[in-house]
Amino acid sequence: MSVKETLAQLVAIDSVSSQSNVEIVDYLAQHSEAIGFQVKRFPYADDKGVEKVNLIAIAGTEFSGEPSVELALVGHTDTVPYDPNWAEALSLTRREGKLYGRGACDTKAFIAATLSAVKLIDWKNLRRPLALVFTADEEIGLIGAKRLAKARAIHPRYAIVGEPTSLHPMRAGKGYCLAEITIKGREAHSAYPALGSSAVFGAARLIAAIEELAKTLETEQHAAFDPAFTTLNVGLVKGGTAKNVVAGECRFTLEWRPIPGQDPKHLLNLLDEAIEAEKKRDPEFVCEVDAARADEGFETPPSSRLVTMLEELTGQHSGTVAFGTEAAQMTQLGAEAVVLGPGDIRVAHRTGEFVPVEELERCVGILQESIRALCL
Ligand SMILES: [Zn+2]
Repeated sequence: MSVKETLAQLVAIDSVSSQSNVEIVDYLAQHSEAIGFQVKRFPYADDKGVEKVNLIAIAGTEFSGEPSVELALVGHTDTVPYDPNWAEALSLTRREGKLYGRGACDTKAFIAATLSAVKLIDWKNLRRPLALVFTADEEIGLIGAKRLAKARAIHPRYAIVGEPTSLHPMRAGKGYCLAEITIKGREAHSAYPALGSSAVFGAARLIAAIEELAKTLETEQHAAFDPAFTTLNVGLVKGGTAKNVVAGECRFTLEWRPIPGQDPKHLLNLLDEAIEAEKKRDPEFVCEVDAARADEGFETPPSSRLVTMLEELTGQHSGTVAFGTEAAQMTQLGAEAVVLGPGDIRVAHRTGEFVPVEELERCVGILQESIRALCL
């Protein structure tokens, strides 16, 4: 079966994050076992009670304790939702050298390339263990990978994390953090503001303080990134009930993307200081912070063997990514990680997602060469 046929079969299995990924995991387990891997499922129920499974396939070692492998190839099995009117979503379609379908680029192309690459390995020559790691729920917060990291399910020395980078090796990435902040006030008739306490004015003062924190964050720089510092955004503000009512509540979101090496909670600590300052100024100021996500970034040194090898194989200097990936969890598991995969992240997640055939096929070769160099 060609890599395109494998990709067509993977795209045909609907694996949107909201539903179970058992079908695609069964497919991957079957194919991995047929090639000669031992597989292990890591099932769990998601927060809606839907069955999800992380799958690890290994060759050259056993599943006991925390298996050490030389190289892990990592791809997530879930996709973002698709428009039901997009006829090609589950039916891979080729046009002008591109393959269209949901997940065609993010990230089933990498998974198809992985299966094609390992098929051609002569296992007799395997000298160091190899793992395939297929995760669930990446698109809704790296949940599957976080579970594997927490369980210490595997210990890879090197990991290639398959996200669309147009086959450009990415050796570092920013983290992703999110908090929802609620300011509580007291409602009153707007003709008598002294009888109430405006949550909107309170939120406005705190948001102004957060804008100053953005400048503080700019003082810590990481030259490999552009912008070179942790950025933040207040993307949503919602407050009040009517124009003539002193607002009783105001909520806003605070999102930030920490540079690797910086504690993802660094901004939360600065925020706490700003809240304390506001409380001193106004004893009635009441504020709740719900820190929903604090995912750190990752960085692999440019001198890492994996980085230099992938630079050589792709003919491209390593770069950095601004979006969150499972490379952070692989790093937590002890790996030197690089993000690399066919397709462009800018076309992922949209109707008309595609992967160029040429990149898909080239990825098979890059993965074969990587296995050969590290495991054979
Ligand atoms: Zn992805």
